[in-house]
Amino acid sequence: PVYLDYAATTPVSQEVLQAMLPYFTDQFGNSGSNQHLFGWEAADAVEESRNSIASFFHVKPSSILFTSGATESNNLAILGLLEHQTPGHIISSVLEHKAVLEPLAHLASKGWEITYLKPNLDGEITLEHFIASVKENTRLVSLLWVNNEIGTITDVPAIAQWCSNHSIICHSDATQALGKMAIQHLYLPDLLSFSGHKIFGPKGIGGLYVKPGIGLQARQWGGSQERNLRAGTLAVPLIVGLAKAIQQIPLLLQYLPELEAKKKDLANELKAKLGNSIVINSDSQNQVASILNVSIKGVDWEKLFRSMPLLAMSNGSACNSKSTFPSHVLKALGRPDDMALASLRISLAHPYLQENHEWVKQYLVQHLHQLIHERLDTNF
Ligand code: PMP
Repeated sequence: PVYLDYAATTPVSQEVLQAMLPYFTDQFGNSGSNQHLFGWEAADAVEESRNSIASFFHVKPSSILFTSGATESNNLAILGLLEHQTPGHIISSVLEHKAVLEPLAHLASKGWEITYLKPNLDGEITLEHFIASVKENTRLVSLLWVNNEIGTITDVPAIAQWCSNHSIICHSDATQALGKMAIQHLYLPDLLSFSGHKIFGPKGIGGLYVKPGIGLQARQWGGSQERNLRAGTLAVPLIVGLAKAIQQIPLLLQYLPELEAKKKDLANELKAKLGNSIVINSDSQNQVASILNVSIKGVDWEKLFRSMPLLAMSNGSACNSKSTFPSHVLKALGRPDDMALASLRISLAHPYLQENHEWVKQYLVQHLHQLIHERLDTNF
């Protein structure tokens, strides 16, 4: 099958794998063992990785924390900041990933008031829209930088700057932005979550940038690792892999124009061949190059996926794939339940450029055409 699900996860690149390998075997020390060489080597690898990630983001090394992934980073950012504070108001959006929505739901159950911004018809959350919802007691703003289902970009730097001028803390889940746009050159929010496995790094590792002066409380207790904020032996090989993957991001960004051309070509082909039977859900100007999301009218979603076994695509986010609920993001764009369910997210990355794009196009169009016609046949 051809893999078209790079927003769900990516393979580990050769460079990343090679960088990690010694830390699984020869240099296996615990970075907390400060009595011998094995521990020192591991600690050096962790600190070099931290320095490298910090210099990528143009921030201080001490502001980078290692976690098990973006889910943990989001939980640490949101709950580590607010869980023990007197409830106030939070602004977020209906476009967020569950890894933000669920910690927010937890705070809501403890009395926090949460405003979930709705996107405009293009799937965008605007600065004006955000400002209009700010209240006297707004304490945190948490907005996804790039949506994982439709790829729309939120102007996080403008919102973060506004928040900074108004003493409101701003967090962004940048899991899907990293490697898909040059966020490292932009104004960063106070808290920024990211993950290794979306950028050709390993699974089970992520990071949280915490601007100096932002006070977080630990959510797990044990050793004093990560400035007492995240107890547990550090995953040295994964940390080395994360740093290597982040170093490779400038290369990933070079492929974006080519990926965008492929994505547009696919979208145009689908529109040309399938006409009104499909709706492009990722049609905004403010969008990453690599995510195409389409809904197919009147088609059963299970049939849709069963009908194209040679293409690995997803509908909505992989984290929801065991449930048959329509995507909350597509519903927020106004799609009815059946169309939100019968949606395909095609997400590309540079390995796709080696695939036979013409074949993928034909296969997709042919199978969708067939499904749409079956539907028309049964309707009449
Ligand atoms: N946030 C977003 C926007 C994501 O796309 C994902 C991965 N589906 C996550 C958070 C969760 O990341 P992780 O797998 O590293 O916990």
